[in-house]
Amino acid sequence: MSDRNYLDWPFLEPRHKELALALDDWASQNVPHAHGKDVDADCRALVKSLGAAGWLRHAVGGGHGAAPAIDTRAICLVRETLARHSGLADFAFAMQGLGSGAISLQGTAGQKQRYLPQVASGESIAAFALSEPEAGSDVAAMQCSAHIEGDHAVLNGEKTWISNGGIADFYVVFARTGEAPGARGISAFIVDAGTPGFEIAERIEVIAPHPLARLRFSDCRVPLSQRIGEAGEGFKVAMRTLDVFRTSVAAAALGFARRALDEALQRATTRRMFNQVLADFQLTQAKLAQMATTIDGAALLVYRAAWQRDQGRSVTREAAMAKLTATEGAQQVIDAAVQLFGGLGVVSGQPVETLYRDIRALRIYEGASEVQQLIIARELLKD
Ligand SMILES: Cc1cc2nc3c(=O)[nH]c(=O)nc-3n(C[C@H](O)[C@H](O)[C@H](O)COP(=O)(O)OP(=O)(O)OC[C@H]3O[C@@H](n4cnc5c(N)ncnc54)[C@H](O)[C@@H]3O)c2cc1C
Repeated sequence: MSDRNYLDWPFLEPRHKELALALDDWASQNVPHAHGKDVDADCRALVKSLGAAGWLRHAVGGGHGAAPAIDTRAICLVRETLARHSGLADFAFAMQGLGSGAISLQGTAGQKQRYLPQVASGESIAAFALSEPEAGSDVAAMQCSAHIEGDHAVLNGEKTWISNGGIADFYVVFARTGEAPGARGISAFIVDAGTPGFEIAERIEVIAPHPLARLRFSDCRVPLSQRIGEAGEGFKVAMRTLDVFRTSVAAAALGFARRALDEALQRATTRRMFNQVLADFQLTQAKLAQMATTIDGAALLVYRAAWQRDQGRSVTREAAMAKLTATEGAQQVIDAAVQLFGGLGVVSGQPVETLYRDIRALRIYEGASEVQQLIIARELLKD
């Protein structure tokens, strides 16, 4: 296993190190790298076991249970550790956090009480529904609408690319309520699965399988008590949530990259060719050195951003730097690992092959790499 010296970095506290080591032990015994063909069943089972073992408490903040607030460093360490073991386990944890994050950060006491304990125990599955067919990177182009009728909001429109779509028990849905044009006229609502007028329009298959769907709302009536935050403040709610979870996407990429380096080291030191092992060649050593350096650079940015957020400081630029560097770097590290494995690297089910598919979407979702570059440049030029 790759060295764990980074757990002693000053960004982290002793409790973080204990958490990472304990979770690593647990995951070694409870989380296989490969999963079966039924992603829905696998995901449900992972959420249940992560909840029963107490790990999901770290995905949930807002004064629930033992977690006084969202601890970004804990979320990052959990994601990094789970990603090293299984992309699907990381996904199951991450979506409980992203799906309930708006409630943790800005929900009413009643909403927190109703939803968070069940998310933390793994009895309820959460989803975050922001993207639409015509509004991905350009979130403010959102068309899904909610008009107010008495004490209800009536939702009409579509959402797409919604992780946990089809298995979630509730969805945090962002819809245009029209208080102002563009980003200032959006509100967030909690929509329970099974609400009349809400349906799964299509399931979407992707290269790293996980539950994903397009959602449709047709005169779907949601009580106004299900609105998170003030009317017209939904865009801010979404951005505050993403500020936490964007850094954690970087942490997941870091976990994938660490696993790829572990696999590459193991293979390079045992694969014999030309009367020596692969690791004896300087060309291989250069590759391994680059992989390790890319990983440490990304880790420094991830834990700097997580630490800074836990200090209560803005992390817009730091989170974007972490996500950009960690996801792009992990793609390179994993590609190098596949190359070191030769033909074995592209055999279905090999850990490096799975990683090769697992990493790809992280460079696209929660803000594509180009969007992160623009955020960093905007912050620089503002200064
Ligand atoms: C596996 C997966 C899971 C997802 N889960 C969720 C979820 O749970 N909830 C949710 O709401 N959404 C989710 N998404 C949606 C995701 O956030 C969007 O795919 C993402 O925001 C990009 O939007 P888009 O796909 O419409 O691409 P587009 O907005 O069409 O962008 C396409 C490409 O254009 C480039 N680009 C974008 N902006 C610029 C720019 N300003 N300048 C130059 N180039 C640019 C980027 O390379 C980008 O990849 C998920 C997506 C995937 C793939």
